[in-house]
Amino acid sequence: MRFDTVIRNGTVVTATDTYASDIGILEGKIAAIAAALPIENTGKVMDAAGMLVMPGGIDAHTHLDMPFGGTTSADDFETGTIAAAFGGTTTLIDFAIQQKGQSLRQAFETWMKKADRKAAIDYAFHCIITDLGDAQLEEMGALIHEGVSSFKLFMAYPGVLMVDDATIFRAMSQAAKYGGLICMHAENGGVIDVIVRRALAEGKRAPKYHALTRPTSTEGEATGRAIALAEMAGAPVYIVHLSCNDALEKVREARDRGVPAYAETCPQYLYLSLEQMEAPGFESAKYVFTPPLREKWHQEKLWQGLARDTLQVVSTDHCPFCFKEQKELGKDDFTKIPNGGPGIEHRLSLIYTGGVHGGRFSPNRFVQLVATAPAKLFGLYPRKGTIAIGSDADLVVFDTNAEQVISASTHHMRVDYSMFEGIRVKGVPKSVLSRGRTIIENGKFVGKAGSGEFIRRQTYSGM
Ligand SMILES: [Zn+2]
Repeated sequence: MRFDTVIRNGTVVTATDTYASDIGILEGKIAAIAAALPIENTGKVMDAAGMLVMPGGIDAHTHLDMPFGGTTSADDFETGTIAAAFGGTTTLIDFAIQQKGQSLRQAFETWMKKADRKAAIDYAFHCIITDLGDAQLEEMGALIHEGVSSFKLFMAYPGVLMVDDATIFRAMSQAAKYGGLICMHAENGGVIDVIVRRALAEGKRAPKYHALTRPTSTEGEATGRAIALAEMAGAPVYIVHLSCNDALEKVREARDRGVPAYAETCPQYLYLSLEQMEAPGFESAKYVFTPPLREKWHQEKLWQGLARDTLQVVSTDHCPFCFKEQKELGKDDFTKIPNGGPGIEHRLSLIYTGGVHGGRFSPNRFVQLVATAPAKLFGLYPRKGTIAIGSDADLVVFDTNAEQVISASTHHMRVDYSMFEGIRVKGVPKSVLSRGRTIIENGKFVGKAGSGEFIRRQTYSGM
């Protein structure tokens, strides 16, 4: 036996098992999992003594190089994927946005160009549907066949991204027919718009009103409606960036009845709260994203949701805008602040810290949440999301005892602030491999922009 790389002496952790083993890698794939693998003819030997060896993270929700409100998210596919790699993420699923009147294919091709020769890790796309005519409805089947097997629809942002219930129902029916999965941005956009206009009329223009005009009940209502529509269509549904207990209860109730409803949350909803919106001056614009931050008590409910499988996935909704010049577009009017926050780099560390060190769940559940569940739901498994013979050698050597204080002065995202500034995490990726190539080694990026590949995903087949 010879291998290109052997990772020795680590503790392998998957969504189901924890055991001491070496891992042998050949031609980008995991070729052997056994104790004391021979290393005589091995190209590279990595020592993982005292470390966990886990499957590479999968971030199912990112927005790189995304136009929004007259500007573009600050990370492109090069800087964003390098920052992701530092954080132990080896695959991301970004969103190709259909402009009104466009074919879905045009959207897909536009985003393929954005990623081409830039991405340092593997990537895939969901397609955001904003305009579903008969032609686009037909296209859904073809796109699923080509590996774009999930679509996102918005119940918020009327006049821009929002679609009506009939459109959601048609899309869900079509997705169910061809093996696709519909992702829902669940907020009642019509109601929010009325509340926002009232606030502006009363002269409420500071960033905190972004949060105060989007109450949790609007997310709860839309989440319940999305699930009801999915049931009517006989389709599964995936709720993105779930932020509050109102919505969590809707998902819990549906899952208890056996409905294939899934949901993700993001680190910002687990670590930050409305208190951040009380920051002086314009500072709180750093936390303007949708859904907004909630009262602090929701955090523990979300952690419990992750532990009890009401929530299946942690993604980031990484959508960075610099404080200077970008967030400042809304200096005098919160509705003009670009919506989004940076988070692609610290997902694993934040979830390991709060989840495993916090005593809320096991390292196996951690792997499930950040890698295995998104791989299964979005058709990447078992190529990605686990450690098994034949799987891509996307691996993270994770030091559970290393500590780091998150700061914009040391992070790798191309954005001038951190949402998690000053938060101390325990559990840091030491080395990261993408299809067998080392891309992070001892805290340094040693990969190459452009070496990431587009991954054609399989159809939805449940968990
Ligand atoms: Zn998003």
